[in-house]
Formats: sequence, structure tokens, C-alpha cells
Amino acid sequence: MLDRLGTESFDVLVVGGGITGVGVALDAASRGLRTALVERDDFASGTSSKSSKLVHGGLRYLQQGEVRLVYEALRERQRLRRNAPHLVDVMPFMIPILGKPGAGDDTRSVVPRKVARALGSAMWMYDLTGGWRIGKLHRRLKRDAALAHMPSMPRDRVIAAYLYYDAAVDDARLVLTVARTAAARGAAVANGCRVVEITHGPDGRADGAVVEADGRQVRVRARVVVNAAGVWSDSVRALDEGADPDAIRPAKGVHLTVPWEKVRNDIAVVIPVPKDKRSLFLVPWFPNGDGTYRATYVGTTDTDYAGSLDAPATTADDVAYVLRALNASSDPSVSGGFTLDDVTGVWAGLRPLVKTGATGRTADLSRRHAITRSEHGVVTVTGGKLTTYREMAEDTVDEVVELLGRRSRCRTRRLPLLGAGRDRTVSGRPASDQHLLGRYGTLAAEVPADDPRLAEPLVPGLPYLRGEAVYAVTHEMARDLDDVLTRRTRARLLDRDATVAAAADVAALIAPHLGWDDAEVARQVDAFRRSCADEAAALLVAEAEYVAATGATPSPDPGAAT
Ligand code: FAD
Repeated sequence: MLDRLGTESFDVLVVGGGITGVGVALDAASRGLRTALVERDDFASGTSSKSSKLVHGGLRYLQQGEVRLVYEALRERQRLRRNAPHLVDVMPFMIPILGKPGAGDDTRSVVPRKVARALGSAMWMYDLTGGWRIGKLHRRLKRDAALAHMPSMPRDRVIAAYLYYDAAVDDARLVLTVARTAAARGAAVANGCRVVEITHGPDGRADGAVVEADGRQVRVRARVVVNAAGVWSDSVRALDEGADPDAIRPAKGVHLTVPWEKVRNDIAVVIPVPKDKRSLFLVPWFPNGDGTYRATYVGTTDTDYAGSLDAPATTADDVAYVLRALNASSDPSVSGGFTLDDVTGVWAGLRPLVKTGATGRTADLSRRHAITRSEHGVVTVTGGKLTTYREMAEDTVDEVVELLGRRSRCRTRRLPLLGAGRDRTVSGRPASDQHLLGRYGTLAAEVPADDPRLAEPLVPGLPYLRGEAVYAVTHEMARDLDDVLTRRTRARLLDRDATVAAAADVAALIAPHLGWDDAEVARQVDAFRRSCADEAAALLVAEAEYVAATGATPSPDPGAAT
């Protein structure tokens, strides 16, 4: 790929290998444009591996009056389900209606009845805006049915619930699959390749970039440059425009993973945050095949962020916020209550929101995307959602095509992603086959299984197989341990401690394929362990700060009303 980048001449060079960039590369390549994409670190290493992993319209955006955004997102949800049925799972969501303690037994409870009516109208709106496309309409659940979906809820506060449908996806895997589909359509796609300069021709127009990769610099020639660098897009614009435009307002979002047994939700649940007008998702992750799951992740926070873009950390406030909401929606006699000790994984991402001049909180800012063109012809695309990446890409490449003076139509609306094509729910297969089909679709057979050891778990207790780590480095451009354990698989997010314990073993497994000697294996393991230790230490500091500030560990808050 690096050779291609240095020798070919491209119509379009995309900077950034998150969902936005890979979407643009696929759209451009499928229209027949000579396309290159460079990612400075790993595919999806920015925001696109740290989302809530939902392919959704966003009920709350409807409540903010963003009807068009929700309509478009629900249309894209349907397209993505059709184009990547192996990756996108329909996910039922439940919104419980909670009252004060004892409200569940009080059928005359007035406030929740009002809440329920308002929610019922919102549910109808969601269905009408496009929720129906999934083939199921929302339903109201009685108290016992609601509790059956999440038995850890406080029984005496649950009055009823609403059930509706959205979808979920492994975000990093979606990015990788779109990138591979673009490559299969002829795009030159490289990770570990940072743009350090945007070059300009004699007429002042951008004509490519200089990238740094493997310690060398490569000049990439392209007629149009697309900046899809997410929260870093201002710094890429500065390379073109000479000054930082200060157009992005990063908003941090944190998720925590906790043991599923303590929550026992068999569907996603939307819980209220006490004393705030927001709610959090509780999403069950990785079915065991017997009605139980490996973990539940909870999120997200939504706060302004002014720290280093490269290392957004989880703070005391973040942890307290999430655990407080979790505790307020659970019965401690069933769940045992939640403290930091229950957190098995964590991730913090930055939303690349577009500055509008508004000063309100980030949760109220629009998730719509924006496309701008610099005076040198660099096209920048920012904002948007994972769910709407294809539409963002279509709009962006329409702009590119105009700059190129060409005419071509978008082809991605019905373009299957790599691995699509077979129904993933093939019954009668062993669980490991189901697991592989759900991650690779028709490519599952490529995951090596020639040695029985490759069918063993990569990390004890987690569903990934050793063959998947080998596949990640031979077929999926994983370059180091973190690529394999954090993004090609999501082991670190599911169970950090178990993943750290398996790190040396995994490094030894992939070493021959990456040409690592013993010293490099040791260096890789050390780097991965250190990164995980830093993450754990940040959480401990967060808890210590929380305890110092409040005198208590995040505790149940049974008095909180919806
Ligand atoms: P990124 O993924 O950050 O990609 C930008 C890339 O550019 C990075 O990989 C970076 O390394 C690279 N880069 C930067 N500088 C350079 C350079 N000089 N050279 C080369 N490469 C460079 N959306 C949904 O639809 N559903 C959800 O459930 C959802 N949940 C979310 C939850 C949270 C907490 C957050 C933060 C966002 C969520 N979103 C969700 C939104 C969605 O995740 C983002 O909109 C999307 O991932 C942004 O992708 P991106 O490609 O624009 O940015």
C-alpha cells in the first residue's frame, strides 16, 4: 500500500481512517475514482471505536426537534442492515417508567402516567419517522414483563415500560469492513500513515500530501484532498490554511463495562440519570447462546472537553455520573450495588461536534454533519454519526466530483460490504461458527483453523478465538498488540484484566506473522500492559477524587425519580 501511495496518482486522497474517512473512500472508489486513504494510527483508533455502538435514529434527537436527522438516520439504519446483515443486529430497547419507591404498586401514580403519555407520543413519532422500517412497532409493557427483561430494576418503582427497536454494531469492525470493501474496489488504504503536510500546486490548489510512515516520508499525489480527521480536523485544516480554524467543539463520552450477571438485562435498557434530563443506555454485549451475556456496557456521558485530543481520560465525575445512574435504576438487594470494583472495562471518546456559536451544553448540540471547502480546494467533512456515515460520504464525494469536473452517481446505497451475502443465523452450527459468522460473514472461512489450538479462546472467558488474532495480522492490517486486542477484537473493552493476563500469549502467537523477535515481543507486551495500567490508574484516581469530594463511594440513589 505504501508503494502504491508513493507511485500512483490519485483523484482523491482521504485523510483519516475513522468511519467518516473509510465511508468516503468506499464511495469514491465505487464511483471509479482513483482513491487513497491514510490513517495516522489504526483504523477506528479515534472516536469510531469508542461510540455506543448503536445504529439508531436517536429517540432523544426527536425530542430535540431534529426530525430530519432522525428520518435520515433511520433510513440509513435500514440500508446498513441490508448492506451488512452480518454486522448489524436488531436490538430491542426498553424504556422503563419509574416512580418513587412504592409507585409500582400505586396504579393512580399521576406523574408517571403523564410521563408515560408523553413517552407514548414520542414512541409513535419515532415509528412514524422511520422506526417502522425495522418491521416492528413499539409496544407498551406491563410491569412484570418489564422486570423480566431486567430483573435487577427496583421492583417497587417500576410502573410499566415501552419497548422499541433499533440496531447495534461493533463500531471498529464496521470501520474495518468498510475500509476493506474500499480496498477491494481498488482504493489504496494504509494505517500507520500520518499526514504531516498538505502540498499545493503552482495555482495554489491542494495537490496531495506528505505522509510519514515506517519512519519515512512519502509524497502522495491527488487532485482533491478530503479531510475526515474527526476531532483532529482543525489540525489538518491548519496544514492547508496556515491557521487553526477552531471549528470543532469536542464533547467527551464515557462508557463503562460491568458484569452482565449484576444487571441481567436481556435487551438494551434506557435508564434516567438522577437530577439530569439525560438518560444512559445499558447494552448487553456478546450473547453466550443460553440467554445470558458476557457483559453489559453503560453510557454515555456528554460533556465539553478541553484536554489532549489524543488521550481523553475518564474522570471522577464521569465514573460517578454513570455509576449513580446505574445504582439509581437497580435494586441493591438483587444487583449488590455497583462500585468501581465492578467496572471491567472503560472507553472514552470525543464527538467531533461542529461549533455553532451556541454556548449550551454539548448534549443539546446538533449531530448533523457539515461539509466545507477551503480556498485551496480541500474538502472537510465533520460531525455526523456512525449511523449516517454513508450519507455523509455521498455528500462529500458529490463535492469531490464537482471539484474534479466530473459527473458520477453515488453507488453505495445498495452496495454490500465485504462478508455480506449469507444469512448469519445458520442454525445447527457450533457456537464458534456463529461467532465467526457474526463478525466476518462470508469471510469466516478465511479465519485460520488448520491447527486445533487456533480454535481455542484468545483470552480465557471471552468469545474470541486464537485464529482471529492471526487473521487480524495477516488479513486485517493489525500492526501491534493493541490493534488486535482493542479493535480487531474488543477483548480489552470487555475484560481488561483478563486481556492483560493473556497479552504475552497473544504476542507470541502473532509474532511470527509480524516478524517480531523476542525483544519486540517483550516491548509490545510491556507497552500494552502499561497502557492498560494507566487506564486502571486513572479510574482509581477518579474514585479517590470522588470519595474525597463526597465522602462516599458511588452509592444507590433510590429516591431519584424519572
Ligand atoms: P474518527 O473516528 O475520530 O476518525 C478520525 C481519524 O483521523 C482518526 O482515526 C485519527 O487517527 C485520524 N487522523 C487524525 N489526524 C490525522 C493525520 N494528520 N493523518 C492521518 N490521519 C489522521 N454514533 C452513532 O451512530 N451511534 C452511536 O451509538 C454513537 N455513540 C457515540 C458515543 C460516543 C461516546 C461518541 C463520542 C460518539 C458516538 N457516536 C455515535 C458518534 C460517532 O462515533 C462519531 O460521529 C464517529 O465515530 C466520528 O467518526 P470520524 O471518522 O469522523 O472520526
